Amino acid sequence: MHRDTQILEAGYPRPSTPGAFVPPVQFASTFTAPGDPAEHAYTYGRVHNPTWVAWEAALGVLDGGEAVAFASGMAATAALFGVTLKPGDVVVMPDDSYYLARVVASTWLATIGVTARFAPTAHDGQREALDGATLLWIETPSNPRLDVCDIERLARAAHERGVLVAVDNTTATGYLQQPLALGADYVVASDTKALTGHSDLVLGHVTAATAERAAALRTWRTQQGAIPGPMETWLAHRSVATLPLRLSRQCASAMEIAWLLSTSDAVDAVLYPGLRSHPAHAIAARQMRAFGPIVSFDLGTRARAEAFLGALTVVREATSFGGIHSTAERRARWGGDAIGEGFIRFSAGCESVEDLLADVQRGLRAL
Ligand code: PLP
Repeated sequence: MHRDTQILEAGYPRPSTPGAFVPPVQFASTFTAPGDPAEHAYTYGRVHNPTWVAWEAALGVLDGGEAVAFASGMAATAALFGVTLKPGDVVVMPDDSYYLARVVASTWLATIGVTARFAPTAHDGQREALDGATLLWIETPSNPRLDVCDIERLARAAHERGVLVAVDNTTATGYLQQPLALGADYVVASDTKALTGHSDLVLGHVTAATAERAAALRTWRTQQGAIPGPMETWLAHRSVATLPLRLSRQCASAMEIAWLLSTSDAVDAVLYPGLRSHPAHAIAARQMRAFGPIVSFDLGTRARAEAFLGALTVVREATSFGGIHSTAERRARWGGDAIGEGFIRFSAGCESVEDLLADVQRGLRAL
């Protein structure tokens, strides 16, 4: 079966099963469960829920492993750190990655005696920092600079040194990139972004390569309590069926926008792994199905970036990315990333590409 069809059907009853195509959402804090709890599939709402089971089945198909759902991408990140690291361990982090993961690594992990080593994503810079480490945390393409590293090469180098590998796959999603098939032990993702794609949910997940590691993550979730709500989970599952459709259009539009920006004298630099000028274009072409919905570019100064954003009429000025509505923001307004004041992170949505190109041209004319 084609992968797009598999994703559309993932976690739903088989087409030959009588009844509604879509299982109902199950709201439950507790379940009738007399006698030995081990004899019951469901007992208490923090431990399990049938709506999570369907959602996790879909995520498992997407990532090619066993998925555990969490309340947000950061809850998933904390769980991954929690089950893999203990005092005295070393985690190798990218120096360009979602900033809050870096903040957690250098604050909370430091307080429990874990050392965070930072190295660049570009040119597989983390490879040089692996000796004596416990966990390698990769993010590719990284957010917001869209640096790319070679997952297979880094995973091989890590495993030769007994280092576990986790990949934050938020920007690509399991549709565009499958880190477990490239040798990673875990995929971590914020499902708040392209994976659910409608800007109405905050969710996350970890997919493990083995059932044993997934079980440890479930235990963490039960004990720490960062569980997803059944309604959010049901909505998320509904959204995954259209992931291939949405991302195909978003990636195609992002490519055209990157082209347009790269031909403009008003733009200092365009960072998009789909452009041949991107230093890791060949790696991205090998390990990704398409190059993602985000295009980052630099307009030089804060004033120019604000003028660009202020002229947009279709694209919303907003944080986050990956949704069906296009968004753009001056990323430096948040701090925490090694980028210039005029750096823009643009996320192509599902609008007509003609409208998006016209909006970008409107923005460029304002400079
Ligand atoms: N990982 C990446 C790459 C992100 O961009 C984000 C959020 O922006 C997260 C993790 C955290 O996810 P959440 O906001 O769902 O907690």
